[in-house]
Amino acid sequence: IPVDVFDLVIFGGTGDLARRKILPGLYRRFVAGQMTSDSRIIGAARGELSDDAFRKLVAESIDEFVPKDRRDEAMITEFLSRLHYVAIDAKGEGGWDALKNMMRDGVVRAFYFSVAPALFGDIALRLKSHGVADDAARIVVEKPFGRDLATAKALNATLAQHFHETQIYRIDHYLGKETVQNLMAVRFANILFEPLWKAEYVDHVQITVAETVSVDGRGAYYDKSGAMRDMVQNHMMQLLCLIAMEPPYHFDPDAVRDEKLKVIRALDPVPQQDIVRGQYLAGGGQGGYLEHCENPASTTESYIALKVHVSNWRWKGTPFYLRTGKRLRARASEIAITFREPPHSIFDDAKGWRENVLVIRLQPDEGMNLMVMIKEPGPGGMRLMQVPLDMSFAGVLGDEAEDIPDAYERLIMDVIRGNQTLFMRGDEVEAAWAWTDPIIEGWNATGAKPQGYDAGSSGPEDALMLMHRDGRRWREIR
Ligand code: NAD
Repeated sequence: IPVDVFDLVIFGGTGDLARRKILPGLYRRFVAGQMTSDSRIIGAARGELSDDAFRKLVAESIDEFVPKDRRDEAMITEFLSRLHYVAIDAKGEGGWDALKNMMRDGVVRAFYFSVAPALFGDIALRLKSHGVADDAARIVVEKPFGRDLATAKALNATLAQHFHETQIYRIDHYLGKETVQNLMAVRFANILFEPLWKAEYVDHVQITVAETVSVDGRGAYYDKSGAMRDMVQNHMMQLLCLIAMEPPYHFDPDAVRDEKLKVIRALDPVPQQDIVRGQYLAGGGQGGYLEHCENPASTTESYIALKVHVSNWRWKGTPFYLRTGKRLRARASEIAITFREPPHSIFDDAKGWRENVLVIRLQPDEGMNLMVMIKEPGPGGMRLMQVPLDMSFAGVLGDEAEDIPDAYERLIMDVIRGNQTLFMRGDEVEAAWAWTDPIIEGWNATGAKPQGYDAGSSGPEDALMLMHRDGRRWREIR
């Protein structure tokens, strides 16, 4: 279904994120017929560039980041003709009036802030002072949204001076992933799971975001944040919220976000003994974290595992184990909900006894698996085995799976539709920092150093212990 006609301005339109994700994504939505041909995209950045030079740059991005069999020369030409460019320095006054004159009345105006967060305030201010943004305009802001509660509050306050909360779209691209939304469908559109979705039946939850990449090339930048700020406070927190939240009364932006906020507020402080931090060591022909971050004394973590408790009626007694890191064995993101064992086994085959696990895989191969116990086929008597009920999208949808929009594509279309359900509200972000800050302050106070872990492994030894001492184990990273 096509979205309304729009003028989308991308500040930082020549930057890495715009070239890798935003512009190729918009091209795909154009091909899909969602972006109609009377909509326009305006790149805005500091450098002087003609429309044609900008189009050339975007053509190169499409070449590089859209698979060959998804490219169509005629479509690309048509798409490029929808593109314009205006040179603007966020901190100066030049270019804004030209931008204002380009804006059309009666179409959706959206402004994507794909620039360093330090510039968000400057852009918000000038969009208003030069009359570029109208009262219905939408702004899209990228992560990181602050680096602690104080900076997030300040950023929210700055944006609120110029825009109403209903105009602000804080991107967390994890929420744009197909499986993440499917998680809500599975929970709230089936009678099967929801009755079991509580501490009484769920033994524990594991959330894993494992990456194989190092921070080489952006180490100095990464070193100022670390895994807790870069992954846990935002992406993993959002996943945790979607699993733990109560059913919203309606699939409506504020109803959903109210429920997520309640989860964040119910999170217990995490004691230091429930936290493991790590730094990858040199290996596999690559340097270690300390070399990559260009600070041999760095205590920033490239890996973190933590045990988290949601203190409410539904979840009391069910831990949520979170782990994420760089340079691990495989690139894999998943949520695993492990159910408790049946109260009594009528079978003698204790060896084969295992729990039901619902695995929601975000990458690679988005999809879901429900591990169930069945009888091992054959004449060997009543022996049990665990098999997956596979709900992978590639399997169910065949070729259509290829057309599932990437997270950025979907989220940008949601901005144009004016649907904030999959965007973080200001109070959610602040609550997440309010939980995160004391955790970081806690380890800073002890001066504890992260534990080294081998590149290509599944993380530090102590992270294994975090589970073992509770009689549980991490799922293998594959
Ligand atoms: P980048 O450095 O590649 O690009 C920055 C862009 O901003 C360029 O187009 C540059 O011309 C423009 N710019 C810089 N100073 C300006 C000024 N004073 N006025 C106007 N334009 C100016 O950065 P990026 O990697 O594209 O990241 C952009 C934002 O997206 C950042 O907030 C970043 O944290 C966030 N982000 C990036 C990624 C990614 O994969 N690159 C992922 C998630 C979030």
